[in-house]
Amino acid sequence: MTDPGLPAAEQTIIDGTVVRFEPDRFVLAEADVSIKHGKIVAVGKRLPRDGEVVDAGGGLVLPGLVNGHTHLGMSALRGLVPFLALEEWLRRIWAIERTLTVSDVHVGTALGLLEQLHQGTTTFNDDYLQADGAAHAALDLGARVQLVRGMIDLYDGKTQERLQDTLRLHGTFDGAGMGRLHIGVGIHSAGTVTEGLLHQGTALADRLGTFVHSHVHETERNIADFAARTGQRPLGYLHDRGMLAGGPRVLVHCCHLEPAEVRTLCRLPAGGVVTCPSSNGNLRVGTTPIIDLQAGGCRLAIGTDGAVSNPRQDLRHEGQLLARQADLSIESVAHVLTAGGAAVLGLPVGAVVVGHHADLVLVDGSDPAPFLRGAVDPRMVLVAGQQLVQSGRFCGGGSANLQGLQHDGALLRQRLEAVAAATA
Ligand SMILES: [Zn+2]
Repeated sequence: MTDPGLPAAEQTIIDGTVVRFEPDRFVLAEADVSIKHGKIVAVGKRLPRDGEVVDAGGGLVLPGLVNGHTHLGMSALRGLVPFLALEEWLRRIWAIERTLTVSDVHVGTALGLLEQLHQGTTTFNDDYLQADGAAHAALDLGARVQLVRGMIDLYDGKTQERLQDTLRLHGTFDGAGMGRLHIGVGIHSAGTVTEGLLHQGTALADRLGTFVHSHVHETERNIADFAARTGQRPLGYLHDRGMLAGGPRVLVHCCHLEPAEVRTLCRLPAGGVVTCPSSNGNLRVGTTPIIDLQAGGCRLAIGTDGAVSNPRQDLRHEGQLLARQADLSIESVAHVLTAGGAAVLGLPVGAVVVGHHADLVLVDGSDPAPFLRGAVDPRMVLVAGQQLVQSGRFCGGGSANLQGLQHDGALLRQRLEAVAAATA
């Protein structure tokens, strides 16, 4: 396993305007930022210039963006399957995914991380198969990643095997990369797991003190089929089995909610809902009732989802779509993209405040809006104080060999195109 290169133990960001994204406004203040061992230790005027000095050049210092739901490894599959109804789309995707190796997922995830780091996204909640590959990619690139291998046991009954693998993944990778890599428990969805896995997976997450990730309420057909089989809609089923209590529950999609279900999500003790506007639209899944959830105080994040259901992997674009769907202001969207998303994932990121990880984005100019609309990319991106992107170029250390990665990506792509053509 490789760890990302060490940042300077101490840094001071000077000559910047620190931006705080409140739920309804931007708060800008000229301030320096002191960083020690990857964490913010002071924010204020004329701080002592300890350690390495990073000049913000009079620009903005923002929190890195938080992507609440991705399948980064899918960046290698982009465009290989057209937008179809979810069930047929999944059949085609799974046929391709069955051929993926750990090293394929390593390459695909690294390419996906590179793409989004350049846009200022620093934290990811990722769910993918061959998760060891995804973990190594996260460590190579130095991003902050919460990772699960979504467990499915309904079709083969291999419950213990799946749980053991999650336990192994957690034991191997949790806390690696100087604490940037987190391993959670992936319960793929209520409809694809046995009741035993649901109970034991939830208990495992709480014993390990980690989060549970699950896809909840996608298509109406999905919900109706589940109700016909079990007599309950998925969310109620999860609730009745205690899956919604305890530590962070990262619940993705949550479309077609009834009022009582909205209330249930607003009462989650930890975690929240991740909405994926492009992906849900492209696969005609449905929409998340954002206005009702926000009105009820539900914690809310935005996700890009994978590159096959959403080829445009830019979280800021998802924010724009959400603003249009739910008539939200750019200030409100900015909060969801940062502190809001961080609250869903249960991580101390998403705000430039003392005690948080120094996951920061430096942007030229004096107004955060062009960056949030995707009109400009960051000048610098830092994770745990480590500079990963500078002037549009990846500069992180670790073992990321960009030329080798592009080469491996091209080979993988060729192979997957052939597989896609054969399984169409
Ligand atoms: Zn997904």
